[in-house]
Amino acid sequence: MSSRLPENVDPRRLATQGAAYSGTVDLAKLGRLSEALLDATGQAEFSIEFYRDNRNRARIKGLVKADLVLECQRCLGAMIYPVDAGLDLAVVKVPEEADTLPESCDPVWVEEDTLRLLDLVEDELILAIPQVPRHEEHACSIDWNNPADEVQDEQEDDLSDKPNPFAVLAGLKSDK
Ligand SMILES: [Zn+2]
Repeated sequence: MSSRLPENVDPRRLATQGAAYSGTVDLAKLGRLSEALLDATGQAEFSIEFYRDNRNRARIKGLVKADLVLECQRCLGAMIYPVDAGLDLAVVKVPEEADTLPESCDPVWVEEDTLRLLDLVEDELILAIPQVPRHEEHACSIDWNNPADEVQDEQEDDLSDKPNPFAVLAGLKSDK
């Protein structure tokens, strides 16, 4: 992470100044996010810019990029889920303000004058995680030695097309 990156910022003041930050952060440092990851090694890249829009609202735009390691809910294996998300936020003090925002823009409530900069990055990554992460069909390899697969099968009703183990083994061999 860039050493000049402040932890807490006043977004309204930064919007007036037109401040911008970019850097990287270890995923393991983002506590809420890393709980949802199978493996929290790696980093997120971000760039965040504060500005005033034509209605003098404090706005935040930016980009967040990371390769998240999620657990495939089908085979329970690791899957890399690339996130490349754009932020478009408006700083609001009361919920009513949110109603006046453009549709493309999400409110971020800042009652006091402090916002944790990395919360913006973390929230964006959490929002990007699918509810039921799964490999693409062709990329999924079920671990047949893992008894947890049986439990998973009962929860999934769309596994009727489950390949037989020998077909999977053959597929693994042909990948090499
Ligand atoms: Zn899978």
